[in-house]
Amino acid sequence: MLIVMKQEATPENVSAVVRVIEELGYRAHALPGANRTAIGITGNPEPVDPGYFENLPGVADAIRVTKPYKLVSLDARPEKSVVDVGGTRIGGGELAIIAGPCAVESREQTFATAEFVAKAGCTLFRAGAYKPRTSPYSFQGLGLEGLKILAEVRDRFGLKIVTEAIDPANLEVVAEYADVLQIGARNMQNFSLLKAAGQARKPVLLKRGMAATLDELLLAAEYVMAEGNYSVILCERGVRTFADHTRNTLDVSIVPAVQRLCHLPILVDPSHAAGKRHKVVPLARAGVAVGADGVIVEVHPQPERALSDGPQALLPEMFLEMVEELRRIHAIVHQRDVALV
Ligand code: PEP
Ligand code: MN
Repeated sequence: MLIVMKQEATPENVSAVVRVIEELGYRAHALPGANRTAIGITGNPEPVDPGYFENLPGVADAIRVTKPYKLVSLDARPEKSVVDVGGTRIGGGELAIIAGPCAVESREQTFATAEFVAKAGCTLFRAGAYKPRTSPYSFQGLGLEGLKILAEVRDRFGLKIVTEAIDPANLEVVAEYADVLQIGARNMQNFSLLKAAGQARKPVLLKRGMAATLDELLLAAEYVMAEGNYSVILCERGVRTFADHTRNTLDVSIVPAVQRLCHLPILVDPSHAAGKRHKVVPLARAGVAVGADGVIVEVHPQPERALSDGPQALLPEMFLEMVEELRRIHAIVHQRDVALV
């Protein structure tokens, strides 16, 4: 059930609806928009009787939701959400570029990478302190020590930190250090992790599972939002197909498909799709051209020495060039002045 408020509804009208929902024992999610507020109801095992709301002051409509998801849907919020990360906007026609190494390996390597990410005018830095690795014998990340290095990067370069939480047990400590909590592809349906991320008060970057459908991705986002965290950024990072010329197949078609149904911003990760650096820039271009709200890419000052994902890491000069190109493509897609500084 979605309660759509009239444009002229007052905050008191909204509170009164929320109160009725809570008295019924359900959870209310007020999603304010430019023209009207919608209030989603979750936690109801059965459809809710619209009669509870229809005659309350300020209520325009009580709509039964027929899709499996509610809060992520454009029905709940017809205008696109913008996720604010300490002043950097993700969505809303901006181009978000999140860049950094796959993993925090040392203070030196992390600082060296942060330096050229900041030099490119980017404000969002990625690096994993806890790494979900296919083999238990591979480098698992520096853990807390890595998070502390990331906190230093934030202080030194003013970059906002995007870093992954791999299980509910460490999510709280990751959330303490992160500006954005990353949920990785392998964990897209780790429902206890999604719920914990929903309870954290940090934006969440949710990567599409490598075999997840569009509905499964949206329902994973719904898990986070149902806990009251509405700052969710989706990310397409490639899915597994028969093709073996890339690590994964970047499904750029999911970008317009998501945008047709869902108000959340969506990024593209060309690095984990490509697997090899020479394919990363072309796929990043495709991601921006198809209308994604930005990209997340891996970069490393010495990829041959990287402890994870070295072959797909961009070299600093490739990265700097790509950023300029992506800004131009983004300007064309959004019909802005292409004569950028
Ligand atoms: C990563 O971003 O380093 C990562 C592990 O990504 P994914 O979850 O998409 O594989
Ligand atoms: Mn990686």
